[in-house]
Amino acid sequence: MTGPVAPTTEPLGMFAARLFDEIRALAPDGAGVSRPAFSEIESQVLDHLAREARAQGLVVEEDAGRNLLFCLPEHADAEAWDLTGSHVDSVPRGGNYDGLAGVIAGLLVLLSAQRGESTLDRPLKCIALRAEESAWFGTCYLGSKMLTGQLTDADLDAPHKGDGRPLRSHLDALDVDAAAVAAGTPLGDMAKVLSFVELHIEQGPQLVNNDLPAAVVSAIRGNFRFRQVQCIGQAGHSGTVPQKDRHDPVLAYAEFISGLEGYCLARLARGDDLVMTSGVVGTDPDQHAIARIPERVSFSLDIRSGSRALLAELQTEVTSRMDRISKARDVRFETGSVVRNEPAELDPGVVCGLEQAMGDVVGQSIVVASGAGHDAAVFAAAGVPTGMIFVRNRNGSHNPAEAMTIADLMVGVDILKAHFARPAQVAMTTNSDNEANMFDELIRTFEAHGKSIHAHAALAKAARRAAAEQPKRAVALHLIASRAESFVECFECMPLTYSEGANAENALRALVAELETALSMGSDAEALAALGAAAQRCCALELAES
Ligand SMILES: [Zn+2]
Repeated sequence: MTGPVAPTTEPLGMFAARLFDEIRALAPDGAGVSRPAFSEIESQVLDHLAREARAQGLVVEEDAGRNLLFCLPEHADAEAWDLTGSHVDSVPRGGNYDGLAGVIAGLLVLLSAQRGESTLDRPLKCIALRAEESAWFGTCYLGSKMLTGQLTDADLDAPHKGDGRPLRSHLDALDVDAAAVAAGTPLGDMAKVLSFVELHIEQGPQLVNNDLPAAVVSAIRGNFRFRQVQCIGQAGHSGTVPQKDRHDPVLAYAEFISGLEGYCLARLARGDDLVMTSGVVGTDPDQHAIARIPERVSFSLDIRSGSRALLAELQTEVTSRMDRISKARDVRFETGSVVRNEPAELDPGVVCGLEQAMGDVVGQSIVVASGAGHDAAVFAAAGVPTGMIFVRNRNGSHNPAEAMTIADLMVGVDILKAHFARPAQVAMTTNSDNEANMFDELIRTFEAHGKSIHAHAALAKAARRAAAEQPKRAVALHLIASRAESFVECFECMPLTYSEGANAENALRALVAELETALSMGSDAEALAALGAAAQRCCALELAES
C-alpha cells in the first residue's frame, strides 16, 4: 500500500470498492474500524487518498487545518469553487462508510469529469476533513469548525479520550496553528466556497424502509433538551390515600408525555418535522416501593426538528402543558436548564438543485430531514450555501455493521454529477408583504423547492402565512394551502415520480391562475361566485383522492 499507484481506467464503482477495502485495512478494530480524530491513522488515510488521487491525475492540496483538497488540474488556481466531501475519522469500532463515503463520492465526481464522462459548471473541489466525530475530544465537527473559525480556546483544552492529552497538543503535533484556532480565526477562506454539498450515508432507517437508494436532505435537525425534569407530588400509602386525593407525579408525567405525543402527532400530520424522546425516566430507587405513591419522578426530554420556529413553539407547548397539569393535579414540574442546539437550515437553492438532479437521475425526488448532525451544519452556519445527499445504509451507523452498497453510492454520485453540471440555482426569498406579487411569490416558493412533497409543504405554509395577513385574499390562499396539504397527505411516505411531481405542479399553477382571475373580477359577487366554483372543484378532487 506504500508503493506508487499506477493510473488506471478501472470503472469508478470498482475504484470506490477498492479504496473502501484498502482504507478499511489501514485501521481494523474488531469487526469495525477505528480512525481517531487528529491521529496518525487519520493522516495515513489522508496520505492514501492523496496517493490515489495524484495517480489519477488530480491535484492535491493541504489546507491550514491539515485537511486535504482534491481538484482537476485546470481548477487548481480557481478564484472560487463549489465544494463537496466529508470526514475521514470514525468513532471507535465504527463503520467504514460514515464520512468516508462522501470523500470517495467527491473523488468519483472529479474522476468522472477528468475522464470526460460528465461536466462541471464551475470549478469543484473535494475535501477530506479531519475530526468530525465527538467520540475523541467530546466536541464534534472539529475539522470544519477550525476551517470556519467556530472553535473556542476552551475547546482546545478538551482531553483526548484515549491518551488524555488536550486537543491543543494534538494540533501542535500536526503543525496546525492552535493560537489562530483559539482566536476564532478561520483556517479557510469561506468567501471562496460557492457552495458545499456533503454526501453521507443515512444513519437512520428511512431510505431502507422506503426502498430508496438516496434522498436529498432538507435540514439538519436541531433540538432542545431537558436533561432532568423533576415532577414533584405528594408521597403516600398506596392503600389508604383515596384516588381523588392523590398528587401522584407518575400519573402527572404519564398525562404530560402522552398528551405531548398527541400534540406532536398532530403537528406531524400537518407536515411539520419533529421527533420527541423521553429516554430516562424513574422514581427514586432509594425511596420508591410497590405500596408507596412516589413523591417525585424524574425524566429527560429531547425534542428535535429541522425548523427553528417549530422548536420555539414546541418549547412553549411543553411549558404550558406542564403548567396546566401542575394546576389540575397539584404537582410541580422543575425543569432545570434547557440546552438548545439550533437546526441547520440548508440553502433552498442548493436543495432545489439537488432535488432536480435527483429527479433526473432517479425519476423521483425525495427530501428528508437529517436527525444526526454533520459537517454540513458547520458550513451552513458559516454562511456557505449548503446541501446534503443521503445514501441508503443498513443497520444504523457508528457500528461495524453499517452496510452501504456501491450501487447506491453510485446513485448518489450521479446526483452530485448532475447537480454540479448544472448552473447554480438562486434561492428565492418570499415577501408576502407585497400583496400585488403574492401569487407570484407563492409560485416561486414552490419552484425554489423543486417538484417535491417538500415544495407542496413549503407552499402550504407560505399560503397560510399570507392568508393570516391578508383578509381580502384569505379564502383563495386557504384553498391553495388546502390543495397543497392534501397532496402532501396523499404522497407522504410514498415515492414521488418525476411525472407525478410535474402533474401536481401543473394542477397547482392552474388553481393559482384561476384564483387570481377570480379575485380580479369586476364585482364582489362575481368574485365570490368564481371562488365558490373553485372551492367546489377542490372539494370534489379531495373526496376523489381520499
Ligand atoms: Zn459522519
